[in-house]
Amino acid sequence: MHDTTYSRPLTFEPMRFRRRLLHVLQRGMALSGMGAAYVRRRGVDGAVILMYHGITDKEDANWIDPRFAVPVTVFERQMRFLAKNRNVIALQELLSLIKAGNSPPPGSVVITFDDGYRSVFTKAAPILKRYQLPATLYLATGQVSRVEAQWIDRLYSMFNTRSRDFLETTGEKLGSANLDNPLEARSAYYALAEQLLPASREQREKILGGIADALRPLRQPPPLTLTWEEIRQMRRLYPGIEIGVHTRDHIDLTACEPQDAAAEVAMSAADVQRELDIAPAHFSFPYGRSNPAARHAVIAANLSSAAVTEPAVLVRAGGDPYALPRLSAPSNMALFPFYTSGAYPQASLEVFGRA
Ligand SMILES: [Zn+2]
Repeated sequence: MHDTTYSRPLTFEPMRFRRRLLHVLQRGMALSGMGAAYVRRRGVDGAVILMYHGITDKEDANWIDPRFAVPVTVFERQMRFLAKNRNVIALQELLSLIKAGNSPPPGSVVITFDDGYRSVFTKAAPILKRYQLPATLYLATGQVSRVEAQWIDRLYSMFNTRSRDFLETTGEKLGSANLDNPLEARSAYYALAEQLLPASREQREKILGGIADALRPLRQPPPLTLTWEEIRQMRRLYPGIEIGVHTRDHIDLTACEPQDAAAEVAMSAADVQRELDIAPAHFSFPYGRSNPAARHAVIAANLSSAAVTEPAVLVRAGGDPYALPRLSAPSNMALFPFYTSGAYPQASLEVFGRA
């Protein structure tokens, strides 16, 4: 039996050299004042919508995939920076502006959170309140009702607290894997994530159940997802956080039948109406994946906006409210000023050919 003091946590690939170099150049662009000069000279306007998931501290390291987490110390610095240097507006304000044919001024920022991590209440909300910053939280309502962690974090937790190293074949792509080898562990993790992402909820539970049987994790993660009661409490304490929806079971709407997509969206809005007595206005597509049927489902559920993810571009007058682009918030401070300056991504695209 292995030591379970997390001596063998999953490791992710280091960033590729080209990407690291681009970040150095982008930082230089911001620090040298080139970015700000670009914004002034070009009269760039529009808002960047930031996307966060979990806000973490040391204790969460075993339970939350770090690719979907920003450390609370970094989050605090980011919010302090925004309060001092940027124009943070509520999502509704941005929508009213673009619908009226106006663009928000450069340096405008909208803050959003996906999924319904408990840390939005326990860690992010007090910081948002301190700096008086509005935000939107998109809930996967079925996961809230079941107080169920994101599947990626369930997978991550099982890998980190496993008592067995051998994984039998769990799909066509993945043969058996010996997780004692870090490279094999990493590629098995990626292959399983790829298999889980487009899965229905039933398929997902079956796959995760099989992995649990094989790996026999020794510990369960603490509650990572908000309960409805916590959300009600959060709304009383932090009215600046608006509640939106993100389907019921966090499924890929482009991988299911149109009627199932429609039900997922409609049921998430109905869950919020029932539990919080409000009609949610905003939606975000799981994994940022949208198609005409999914878009139609959002409009049919009387939701007035929908967010995707990449590519992160500025939202300005005439922008499509049902395809709001977002930028995944960086998990460090280095590029945060540049990303929120208004110069990103155009200045980077023009000067370096990439963003
Ligand atoms: Zn999500």
